[in-house]
Amino acid sequence: MGKSFLIPDNLAGYIDGAWLRESAVLAELRLETAKLEKAGMQISADQGQFMAFLVKSLGVRRILEVGVFTGYSSTVMALALPEDGHITACDISEEFTSIARRYWDMAGVAAKVDLKLGPAVETLDGLLADGNAGTYDFAFIDADKPNYLAYYERVLSLLKVGGVVAIDNVLWDGKVADRTVLDEQTIALRQLNEHIHHDERVDLCLVPVGDGVTLARKRG
Ligand code: SAM
Ligand code: CA
Repeated sequence: MGKSFLIPDNLAGYIDGAWLRESAVLAELRLETAKLEKAGMQISADQGQFMAFLVKSLGVRRILEVGVFTGYSSTVMALALPEDGHITACDISEEFTSIARRYWDMAGVAAKVDLKLGPAVETLDGLLADGNAGTYDFAFIDADKPNYLAYYERVLSLLKVGGVVAIDNVLWDGKVADRTVLDEQTIALRQLNEHIHHDERVDLCLVPVGDGVTLARKRG
């Protein structure tokens, strides 16, 4: 995804020029991904910088990612982790994640990333069955929208108390606010937003970066 629909055109260039610090390897990954038909699935550079900032500020060591694609978010977060940090990265696509693997190598973070290929609901259930509940500091949900609620519930179990989940695309280009839009993805996002709003297990906020990111922090 390029410029956020939340940023006025006349500000976008200034913001990029004045704040962005995209490393060479991440810039190369963005260029390579731009050639793909599904390039728009990639998070923006400013969102990546925001997530790296969160990882460092929260002292995150263990990350769970649902939706790797070509690896931008996992690479930017892995670079922000300490040496002993770790990411469990879930995706269903061998094709997309083969690009991610190359960039994890190039960025020198491959040892921090454990790729789990397969439907993410099954992967998360497997992590729970293997005794990983309450062990992750941070999670990023950015995969197929109809499964977002299923991911959220499992991720919440996998997070430590005080752990944070970031959920991508919660504004869905503004479509969540347009009640005439009734496709499966928009409905799923609307339902998830409502679910989290009333979920007393978490503190929450909306960050208007990219396509809208919900941050939810697991309460004790
Ligand atoms: N976070 C990525 C980035 O920074 O570039 C973008 C992720 S992209 C929006 C969504 C990803 O979810 C795709 O790579 C797709 O293969 C994956 N996906 C779709 N359905 C899935 C499923 N059921 N289980 C796991 N991954 C899935
Ligand atoms: Ca996304």
